[in-house]
Amino acid sequence: MIDQYKRNINYIRISVTDRCNLRCVYCMPEEGAVFLPKSDLLTDEEIIRLCRCFARLGMKHVRITGGEPLVRDDIVSLVGGIKRLEGIRRVTLTTNGVFLREHLSGLCLAGLDGINISLDTMAPDRYRHITGKDCFSQVYAALEEAVQYKALKMKINCVPMTDTSEKEITDLVGLARKNPLSVRFIEMMPIGLGKRHSFRQEEELRCLITHTYGALIPLPPSKWSGPARYYSIPGFLGSIGFISAMSHNFCKECNRIRLTADGHLKTCLQYEKGLDLKSILRRETDDSSLERAIAFGIYEKPDGHSFHSLTYPEFCEQNYMSQIGG
Ligand code: SAM
Ligand code: SF4
Repeated sequence: MIDQYKRNINYIRISVTDRCNLRCVYCMPEEGAVFLPKSDLLTDEEIIRLCRCFARLGMKHVRITGGEPLVRDDIVSLVGGIKRLEGIRRVTLTTNGVFLREHLSGLCLAGLDGINISLDTMAPDRYRHITGKDCFSQVYAALEEAVQYKALKMKINCVPMTDTSEKEITDLVGLARKNPLSVRFIEMMPIGLGKRHSFRQEEELRCLITHTYGALIPLPPSKWSGPARYYSIPGFLGSIGFISAMSHNFCKECNRIRLTADGHLKTCLQYEKGLDLKSILRRETDDSSLERAIAFGIYEKPDGHSFHSLTYPEFCEQNYMSQIGG
């Protein structure tokens, strides 16, 4: 599926819920979040039907996200159902990791190819401060268990803020020294509560990491590396990655689209504009009409974000990241 700017779109991130058990300061308000009624959430069957259409249009990689995807009861069977579809080569999951241990073996048996665990610090008190919950030990235990599954590609995602200390950064990097996983630093985007926080940029993190651990050696991009750029450090089992939408715009190579938990197809994070696939899906019994609508939506994908613009574009995304599906 090629869009109007000749980008090959083959990766979809699907949000399966707007609910979450944590309240990360840059993502979800501590009080007053309003959630979708159950009838507005796509069912498993609807998600699988849409994935079948996406696969026929060329999507090869599906990432399940949220909200917190592991608060959805049927997550293991959903992963298995998507993984069995013809054309889908890779199914991965992004999670805060709190409920991961109890689902890990089921997810692996269902064919999950990779897990990204969001973890902004290794310090339990800071974890509580950032997420609102005292769950660091559960997440760390899940991480340790997940790295035992050799077939599972593991990544740790950190969104460093200006109050994230140098020690917090270097401790997280240390995870890639002794484990075969990628520790990735993601620049905060001015979406939802993210607008209220200042973040650490890639350049300063690179200086800090190099100073502590030695040279960062660029790794060649892989088929699945997307916008992340990866580096190795001599003596490390894993790698370090950066996803820097703010300081290194990657819109020209963007290969992704998103499906919200209530069935809106979003082709760029910054814009609210999205195609209401749920209505089409619930009206049309014929997949070809659905595929035509999706193809049109993808073709129209905007050329890129304008997060740095002083005047925000019209129809800018007003929702929290947890509602969009980060
Ligand atoms: N609950 C799951 C988790 O935390 O991994 C999945 C959903 S969460 C919205 C997905 C990712 O989005 C997390 O890694 C989170 O840190 C990131 N995120 C949330 N708000 C962000 C923002 N404004 N800019 C960049 N990343 C953000
Ligand atoms: Fe929940 Fe993930 Fe948002 Fe944190 S980043 S509040 S874990 S959805």
